[in-house]
Amino acid sequence: MAEQAARMRTVDEHLAGVLSGIGSIDPIEVTLLDAQGLLLAENVATDVPLPGYDNSAMDGYAVRAVDVRDASPANPVVLPVVGDIAAGAKSRSGMGPGLTMRIMTGAPLPAGADAVVRLEDTDGGVARVSVTSGVRSGENVRRAGEDLAVGAPALASGAALGPQQIALLAAIGRDRILVRPRPRIVVISTGSELIDVGRKPAFGEVTDSNSYLLASAAKDAGADARRFGIVPDDHAQLLDVLESQLLRSDILITTGGVSVGAFDVVKQALSELGTVEFTRVAMQPGKPQGFGHIGNGVPIFCLPGNPVSALVSFEVFVRPAIRKLLGKRNLQRQSVQATALETIPSKQGIRQYRRGVLHREATGGYSVSLVGGPGSHLIASMAQSNCLVVIEEETTEVVAGSRVTVIPLLLANR
Ligand code: AMP
Ligand code: MG
Repeated sequence: MAEQAARMRTVDEHLAGVLSGIGSIDPIEVTLLDAQGLLLAENVATDVPLPGYDNSAMDGYAVRAVDVRDASPANPVVLPVVGDIAAGAKSRSGMGPGLTMRIMTGAPLPAGADAVVRLEDTDGGVARVSVTSGVRSGENVRRAGEDLAVGAPALASGAALGPQQIALLAAIGRDRILVRPRPRIVVISTGSELIDVGRKPAFGEVTDSNSYLLASAAKDAGADARRFGIVPDDHAQLLDVLESQLLRSDILITTGGVSVGAFDVVKQALSELGTVEFTRVAMQPGKPQGFGHIGNGVPIFCLPGNPVSALVSFEVFVRPAIRKLLGKRNLQRQSVQATALETIPSKQGIRQYRRGVLHREATGGYSVSLVGGPGSHLIASMAQSNCLVVIEEETTEVVAGSRVTVIPLLLANR
């Protein structure tokens, strides 16, 4: 058959094709806590200074520095205390030369003062205070706008929004900002053998785990993911469901039905649309892949149904697509080099992804052992893995003790 004889696409070729088919989503306005983990989609400048007014960095006494220039423990300078200023004072007080005011951290510096003597450098007097250390002009004073001046850029479009950035936005009075939104993803499991979790499977029935696998993986990658649930291997029902989900989705994901079996309905039904391409990718697991667009250009991934294949396909193709939609520059997970604890055979010309357990060595490096055989149906051993071991196309054997590339499957918020 011509299709069988055709050269398989490499993983990198297929990924490049996928990413070129992923556009962008219009920015949306969100409140600050909903911005956590997203990228800013506007340049933010401040229209208030930070700090907002000259204030004291210490609990102490506001002074004119020249008045206490020569103060020392041996020669204290005694000043009359003409008032108290607490944080929250609603107006700026003032004081004349040769006088002082008791001031609290964050309270507005009075007119006439240019420095603050720390409480520790005084006798703490209430009516009169004895100052035992001199200060320079400006000492212990936070100047209005020294952190951020009015009109200064606070954050640039593209900035990743974590606690520090969200704090700054709050400090300058922005409670809503434009961000790149979380892509909305709907996951659809296909297969007439599938039943919903919670029901006891009769003979021949399989509980749908892929929609949970993929929806949680998509959430972890930053998407706003939902499970549609199960669709049987039926051409018309599949097309109806896809149609019904189009408006709610920035990406659609199906699993199952993309091999060459007689009931591989996803492949049959979507091939006819002509906008989704089904290919064989030189990888194991995850060889059959479908990708394209349906409706008004909504990207759709048609992943194989075996759970391990679904996981690997998600990691290799869907996760980078989600990150692209989020506006992230780095689309790939960070990989590490680890010492293989066993010899791993691999087929020439195929990139193999094996599940592994990554160990931190006492010496600082990593080592990795495999868990589960090459079978793509092994859900229990998949649950023990914490990484994927990547064996490159040209490698036919990773010898025990040699270095191998490993992708830790770290959770985003752990
Ligand atoms: P398929 O890709 O449809 O040929 O399915 C391959 C294998 O994966 C079959 O053994 C299916 O029963 C199984 N499978 C397909 N979809 C799911 C799913 N959503 N959850 C768990 N197993 C599945
Ligand atoms: Mg099937």
